[in-house]
Amino acid sequence: MSDVRRTKLLIIGSGPAGYTAAVYGARAMLEPVLVEGLQPGGQLTITTDVENWPGETAIMGPELMAKLRAQAEHVGAHIISDIVAEVDFSRRPFRAVLDGGEVIEAETVIVATGASARWLGLDSETRLRGKGVSACATCDGFFFRGKQVAVVGGGNTAVEEALFLTNFASKVTLIHRRDELRADKTNQQRLFANPKVEMVWNATVSEVTGTDGVSGLVLTDTVTGEARPLAVDGLFVAIGHEPATGLFAGKLAMDEEGYLLVAPGTPVTSVPGVFAAGDVTDKLYRQAVTAAGMGCMAALEAERFLAHQAHAPQQQAA
Ligand SMILES: Cc1cc2nc3c(=O)[nH]c(=O)nc-3n(C[C@H](O)[C@H](O)[C@H](O)COP(=O)(O)OP(=O)(O)OC[C@H]3O[C@@H](n4cnc5c(N)ncnc54)[C@H](O)[C@@H]3O)c2cc1C
Repeated sequence: MSDVRRTKLLIIGSGPAGYTAAVYGARAMLEPVLVEGLQPGGQLTITTDVENWPGETAIMGPELMAKLRAQAEHVGAHIISDIVAEVDFSRRPFRAVLDGGEVIEAETVIVATGASARWLGLDSETRLRGKGVSACATCDGFFFRGKQVAVVGGGNTAVEEALFLTNFASKVTLIHRRDELRADKTNQQRLFANPKVEMVWNATVSEVTGTDGVSGLVLTDTVTGEARPLAVDGLFVAIGHEPATGLFAGKLAMDEEGYLLVAPGTPVTSVPGVFAAGDVTDKLYRQAVTAAGMGCMAALEAERFLAHQAHAPQQQAA
C-alpha cells in the first residue's frame, strides 16, 4: 500500500517559480511540499552566466538555483526528489501520485513545471549550447556585442529575437527554411527595414561549427540541396517552446500550444485552488525573474484561497 502525505500546498517543479513559491508558501506557514521533477533547479541549471538576476552581477545558473533551493529549505519547505506522474484535480483534497508510488493529498497546488525550447536536434548544436548556441536572445544577446549572429525560425518569436539582437550584434542573419515568414506583417516590415538584418531564405542549418565557441554554420538549401558555410559567432534557435503540461491534459484549461490558461494578471487556473506560475503559463517573457515573481503571486493566492475556505462555512452560517 502506498504512503499518503498530506499538505496545504503542493508545488510541482523546482525552477525559479517553484522555489520562490516554496519560500512564500513556507513563510505563510503552509508547510509546502515541493516535488522537483526530472530537472532539479529547472532550465537555469543548463546555462552558465546569468547576468540579469536582481542582486547578482553575474552568477552561474546552477549556483543560483542551489541558492534558491537552500533558501526554500531554510524557511521550511519540504523538497522531494521525484516526479509527479499523475494528478487528480477533480475534487479536494487534490491528489498527486509520484513516480516512486507516494501519494500526496493537497489543499492547494501550484503548477510550476516550466517549458523547454525546441532545438534543431543537431549533435553540434547540443555540444555548443551555452558556448554560442542559445534559445534566448533576452538572456544571451548581451554577450554578442559587436559580433555576427544568426537566428533560425520564421515566426514572430524569431523575428522579435532577430530585431532584439540588432541592439548588440553588428549583423543578424535570419535563416528560414521557406521563402516567406509566418511572422505578422508589422514585425516583417520592421525586420526588413533594419540595415543590420540579412535574410537567408530556403535554408536549414545542418551543422554548427566550432570547438569551444561557435565559428560558423553549414547551411543546406532546401530547394537545391546545396551546402554552404556561413561565418557567425552565435546561433539563436527560435523555433518555439514546449510547455511541460502533458500531465494536465483534460484537467486544466490550456491554449492551443499547451500553455496553462490563467485569469489575466493572476496565477488562477481553471480549477479553483490550483495555480500556475512561470514558463508553464508564460510564452511572452520567459525569464527567471518573471517566473519567480509568478511563483510569489501563486503562493500568495494559495494562502488567500485557504484563508477564504477556512472562513467560508462561518460566513454561510451567519
Ligand atoms: C540555456 C538557457 C539559458 C537561460 N538564461 C536565462 C538568463 O540568463 N536569465 C533569465 O532570466 N532566464 C534565462 N533563461 C530562462 C529561464 O531559465 C526560465 O525562464 C526559467 O527557468 C523558468 O522558470 P520556471 O520555474 O517557470 O520553470 P523551469 O526552470 O523550466 O523549471 C521547471 C521545473 O519543473 C519540473 N517539472 C517538470 N515536470 C514535472 C513533473 N511532472 N513533476 C515534478 N516536476 C516537474 C522540472 O524538473 C523543473 O524543475 C534561460 C533558459 C535556458 C534554457
